[in-house]
Amino acid sequence: MITRFEWTNARSIDDAIGQLNDKSLAKAGGVDLMDRLKEGLDAPTRLVNIRSIPDLDYVKEESGWLRLGPMVTLTTIAEHPVIRQRYKVLADAALNAATPHIRNMATVGGNLLQRPRCWYFRNEQFHCRRKGGEECFAQEGEKRYAPSFIPRQLLAH
Ligand SMILES: Cc1cc2nc3c(=O)[nH]c(=O)nc-3n(C[C@H](O)[C@H](O)[C@H](O)COP(=O)(O)OP(=O)(O)OC[C@H]3O[C@@H](n4cnc5c(N)ncnc54)[C@H](O)[C@@H]3O)c2cc1C
Repeated sequence: MITRFEWTNARSIDDAIGQLNDKSLAKAGGVDLMDRLKEGLDAPTRLVNIRSIPDLDYVKEESGWLRLGPMVTLTTIAEHPVIRQRYKVLADAALNAATPHIRNMATVGGNLLQRPRCWYFRNEQFHCRRKGGEECFAQEGEKRYAPSFIPRQLLAH
């Protein structure tokens, strides 16, 4: 199935918010989003590229807190000298995710907001609960990579 969509480059956060609606999606690195488009899980009429917004890839320490901009890549988290030295667990976690090519594109914002990695959710042939269906196939099936499957107790409610 060919899905046609418009592509826009947001100039600022306000510009991006103004362009987003229930038929459009924000695109950061695009790793998760492109998979979802290819798998037919989403069919937006517009992709709003938010990588074009300047200054969202900051890494800074403020009053003892580490602040990461949403456009910081997993590679940056893995390699940044301050994160590597002072927040080693975070750097190691980023380094262990995916592959070098994906880490170069994948942003921390997109990582937190990616849709479930469940095999049933990701397969267009399964109309699962997360896609509005009746059944959570991970309940009885293959649960690997599906940390967010819907527990049986919740299905009754
Ligand atoms: C082969 C493979 C292996 C992987 N392995 C791992 C792993 O080991 N560990 C792990 O944690 N992850 C893993 N991932 C997931 C990967 O890290 C994420 O897909 C990636 O981080 C998504 O980031 P992105 O910038 O590409 O997001 P996008 O694909 O651009 O966006 C993802 C979603 O978040 C939304 N979004 C993104 N940024 C923003 C923002 N700033 N504001 C509002 N909405 C936003 C988008 O609209 C979209 O819905 C793997 C992925 C693949 C393909």
